[in-house]
Amino acid sequence: MKTLNDFNFNNKKAIIRVDFNVPLDENFKVTDNTRIEAAKPTIDKIINEGGSVILMSHLGRPKGVEEKYSLKHILAETEKVLGRNVKFAKDCIGNEAVELAANLKAGEVLLLENLRFYTEEEKGDVAFAQKLANLGDIYVNDAFGTAHRAHASTTIIAQFFSGKKCFGNLLAKEIESIERVLNNSEKPVTAILGGSKVSSKITVIENILDKVNHMIIGGGMTFTFIKALGGKIGNSICEDDKLELAIEILKKAKEKGVQIHLPVDVVAADAFSNDANTQVVDVKQIPDGWQGLDSGPKSLEIIKRIILDSKTILWNGPLGVFEMESFANGTISLGNYIAESTQNGAFSLVGGGDSVAAVKQFGFEPKMSYVSTGGGAMLEMLEGKTLPGIAAILND
Ligand code: AMP
Repeated sequence: MKTLNDFNFNNKKAIIRVDFNVPLDENFKVTDNTRIEAAKPTIDKIINEGGSVILMSHLGRPKGVEEKYSLKHILAETEKVLGRNVKFAKDCIGNEAVELAANLKAGEVLLLENLRFYTEEEKGDVAFAQKLANLGDIYVNDAFGTAHRAHASTTIIAQFFSGKKCFGNLLAKEIESIERVLNNSEKPVTAILGGSKVSSKITVIENILDKVNHMIIGGGMTFTFIKALGGKIGNSICEDDKLELAIEILKKAKEKGVQIHLPVDVVAADAFSNDANTQVVDVKQIPDGWQGLDSGPKSLEIIKRIILDSKTILWNGPLGVFEMESFANGTISLGNYIAESTQNGAFSLVGGGDSVAAVKQFGFEPKMSYVSTGGGAMLEMLEGKTLPGIAAILND
C-alpha cells in the first residue's frame, strides 16, 4: 500500500482528491469543518516537504454549474484551517486552472472549483480525468467518502499516474483500521449491528460472520429476528419478508461458531414519540399497540460484559431511536462501554452512517480508536467489496 511516505514531494505538485463536501448555512458559511481538518495532515506533510498542493473536491449535487455549490464558499474556511493562503481556480479544468497550476510554487495551495459542475466527473470520463491529471505530478487520494465511486477524480485519474500515486493519511488510516478489525484482529472480536433494518445490513452480516466471535444485534432490526423466533413484537418495526433470512443468519452463525446476542428486554413505547408512555418488557412479550424503541437494562448488562471482554470492537448502527432523548439510553450506554473497553486497550472502530452521528452527538468521538469518515464507503468495505478508488491505487 503506497502512502505519502513512499514519495519525496520536494518541488513536486501533488494533486489531491479531498472530500470537502461540507455543510453550509443559508449565508454559505461552513457549519462543520471536520472534513477540511481531516485533510490537513496530508496537505501539511506535502507542503513541509517542499511540495505544492492542488486540491480537488465535489460539493453537493449540482446540476451543471450552480453558484450555490461553488467551492469559493469554502475558500476562507480552508485558509483558516490550513493557516495559509489558498488560490482558487474558477473552473477545475481549462486555461485558468492550467496556468495557476503551472505557476504554483513550493509551499502554495490551489483549490479547484467543484468537480461536479461537469457531468464527466460522475460518469468517470477519461478525457476529463486526463485534463485533471495534467495539472499535477503525483496523485494522492485522501477522500474515503467517495472511494466507493468510480468517478473521474476518485478512480479514473489514477491510470495517468503509474508509479506516482498514493493514499493520503486519512484514507490510509481508514484502510488500516478496517484491516485491523476484519483481517488482523486481536480476539475476541465483537461486532455490534444496530439501526433500523436487517435488509440494509445483510451483506455486512454475512461477510463479517467469518471474522467475529460475537455479534450483538440491536436497534430496529432486532424485531425481525424476534418475530422469526416466534416472539410477540407488538407494533415494533419488522421486515416480514426477511423472517426466513433471519433464521438463516442464526443458523449460519451457529455453524461458524459465532455467538449471536439478541436483546432479552426492551424499552417499549405506546407511540413513536419522545413523550410516549414507556415500560420495560421482555423482548418476546411486547404488548399489542406497543413498540420496542430502545435496549432494556438486562440486555445492556449482557452487552457491557461482552464489550469489556473484547479486544476488537466494530460498531455499526444505534441500539435505539437515539434521536429522541427518551430512547437514547441504549446507544449512550453502549458508547460508554466501548469507551471503557478502548481505554483498557481494545481497538474500536465506529463506521457506517448513523452510529457515527450518534458518537459525535454524544461526544464519544475522542474515546474511540477510530471513527470512519465515510458512511457508504465503510459499509461497502464491511461487505467485503474492494472499492474502486482504493483498487485504482493498489493496482499499480
Ligand atoms: P440505519 O441507517 O439502518 O443504521 O438506521 C438508523 C436508524 O435506526 C436511526 O435513525 C434510529 O432512530 C433507527 N432505529 C434504531 N432503533 C430503532 C427501533 N427500535 N425502532 C425504529 N427505529 C430504530
